[in-house]
Amino acid sequence: MLTANDPSLHSWIQIAPDCDFQIQNLPFGIFQTEDRDARVGVAIGDYVLDVYVLTQHGLFDMLDVEDPTVFHRPYLNDFMALGRVIWRQVRGRISELLRNDNPEIRDNRALMAECLLKQKDVQMLMPVQVPNYTDFYSSMEHATNVGSMFRDPANALLPNWKHLPVGYHGRASSIVPSGVPIRRPKGQTKRADVPVFGPTKQLDFELEMAFITGQPTELGTSLTTLEAEEYIFGMVLFNDWSARDIQAWEYVPLGPFLAKNFGSSISPWVVTLDALEPYRVAGPVQDPKVLPYLDFSGNKNLDINLEVTLQAPTLPEEVVICRSNYKHLYWNMNQQLAHHTSNGCNIEVGDLYASGTISGPTPASYGSMLELTWRGTTPLQLPNGTERRFLHDGDVITMRGYAEKNGIRVGFGEVRTEILPTL
Ligand code: CA
Repeated sequence: MLTANDPSLHSWIQIAPDCDFQIQNLPFGIFQTEDRDARVGVAIGDYVLDVYVLTQHGLFDMLDVEDPTVFHRPYLNDFMALGRVIWRQVRGRISELLRNDNPEIRDNRALMAECLLKQKDVQMLMPVQVPNYTDFYSSMEHATNVGSMFRDPANALLPNWKHLPVGYHGRASSIVPSGVPIRRPKGQTKRADVPVFGPTKQLDFELEMAFITGQPTELGTSLTTLEAEEYIFGMVLFNDWSARDIQAWEYVPLGPFLAKNFGSSISPWVVTLDALEPYRVAGPVQDPKVLPYLDFSGNKNLDINLEVTLQAPTLPEEVVICRSNYKHLYWNMNQQLAHHTSNGCNIEVGDLYASGTISGPTPASYGSMLELTWRGTTPLQLPNGTERRFLHDGDVITMRGYAEKNGIRVGFGEVRTEILPTL
């Protein structure tokens, strides 16, 4: 076990037990303030640790980080490019500095004031520059629900679905961090057999998580399921905004396009795969047996609790509309990345791979309005007596996620997005 994951560790910083950012987590992000330009931070309790300041005080001198300015950049990419040995060294050293028995920052008031900032006083930015974005479709429950609604309940899953992790290449330019609003898109839809152009009437969220690769491969080479996780830096929450009426009209024959590329939102803290190791669980049994290049050993799913809330101007407080779990996914990250590179497709530092909508087995665990309201036929009943089919302007959708075991919680914070009207 990595020392930084030891459940017996405590920090000299006071951290509430239900806080996502315990000393066993230490997720990386990019922040700025009025007087500090964009740089790498680590979340701890209610604070952000300014990693670049630590390097300026010589606290990383014993590590193999040759150029400490990788922590003074507007994205994590240059740090991630250093590889997993360095990721582990840096997380391990930060863990050491924050432990209650380590005096290096604890007993240095001036340094503490310089390197620790309240999270509420900083602005979180996109953590990575995303060169390429892929969206998988790896929840059997979601694929079955969508197949039942749009095609045929008797043959909801297409013949390929259990043989390969289905996915498509998405749009990287429109991925934004939590807090950046999304504007209702306009597009072409079909009404009463005639195509019309205007604002979507079926705006939806999709509850997903995404992993980020921190190492590249060469064009023409492939990764095995065993090698795959050496390339994965960490994970974020992911909201794949979708316009269902645009989607229904455009998706045949080539799949999602303008119904998806107007925006996707991510949580700003990247939780490392190392921090998630204690929360490994077995996935669903894969039957039929997969081809050898997709075979894997060990527990490769993750037990991460997920929830979605809706806040609307007409509601007194936010309402939980979905509770799901990442562990429901049929295909795991190792298989997704092995499949993605199986034809020799190269991957890059900062590439982002979303899971697909994470729906569970029960209706309350469905990860989109499309499924929660069964394409609008069974609207959600809200506490103020109104009904809801899809999303309205002014709505705020928030996704949260955390893993918990032996009383230690490793969380993702949130991705929170307001919907603005069409321009
Ligand atoms: Ca999706």
